Amino acid sequence: MGGVYTHPRYHRAMLSRAMLAHERGWVEIGDRAYVRRYRSLDQNIGVVLGDGATLVVDTRSTARQANELIGHIRELRAEAADRLIVVNTHGHWDHAFGNRTFRPATIWGHERCVTMIAATGELQRAHAIAELPKLAADIRAVELDPPDRTFSDAAVVDVGGRRVDLRHLGRGHTDNDIAIVVPDAAVVFAGDLLESGATPYFGDGYPIDWPDTAAALAAIAVDLDAVVVPGHGDHGGAAFANEQAAAFRSLADLARRVESGELSLEDAASRSPFPPADSAGPLERALAQLRGELG
Ligand SMILES: [Zn+2]
Repeated sequence: MGGVYTHPRYHRAMLSRAMLAHERGWVEIGDRAYVRRYRSLDQNIGVVLGDGATLVVDTRSTARQANELIGHIRELRAEAADRLIVVNTHGHWDHAFGNRTFRPATIWGHERCVTMIAATGELQRAHAIAELPKLAADIRAVELDPPDRTFSDAAVVDVGGRRVDLRHLGRGHTDNDIAIVVPDAAVVFAGDLLESGATPYFGDGYPIDWPDTAAALAAIAVDLDAVVVPGHGDHGGAAFANEQAAAFRSLADLARRVESGELSLEDAASRSPFPPADSAGPLERALAQLRGELG
């Protein structure tokens, strides 16, 4: 199944709350750990400040957006000599197309984040232009620049004396999602493994694996009593992570019941934890995984 590299549009009812959040600038959600919510795609960007080092979670969609982000980071920390460390939560355009602007910073990501950008970067560019036509020229100009520091399961990053854990907990939204865990701030940046305010995007997902991956992430959040930041939309607590993990479990179970002939696709969509109109695609993707078609 070919991915369609777009994120679902937000429900009208969510917009006023989101617009308020967009006016707030940086919000400190844990000790020197911040989130900033951007109007474009209702996206969350994370920052962790250490002693002489700044970690940035995701780089936005274009050089212009990335430069705006760098300006916003200076609001938190004016020292130009600060070492910047970048992490891509996964290889989707809205999280990694700003990478080039952050060089010569180190950019961390899962090893398959690099593979994904190499294999699908140009296809993603075409879909990004379709999704954000006003940014077409900027998106055309993006120089793809995948992470240069990679790992398969886990890595520890020193952010100016603070420990930040990068964890690949399994396949979910993509095959290369990572969680960024900041233990001393009790913060978890979840990337698009979790999403609030819209149906999560399944186009490149592994719906049968996603429940366990999200549950592992939720367990970390419970242990730390953490603030959990999704890739898009409102942040929440461990309960939010648990609710999303349960929703992914429910969707995977419905897909199994379709596969066994117990339910029609339409019946399953009507019982989905996500809006029925959004659920056929995710269920079909889950069926494809059950049939072994996703590798
Ligand atoms: Zn994504």
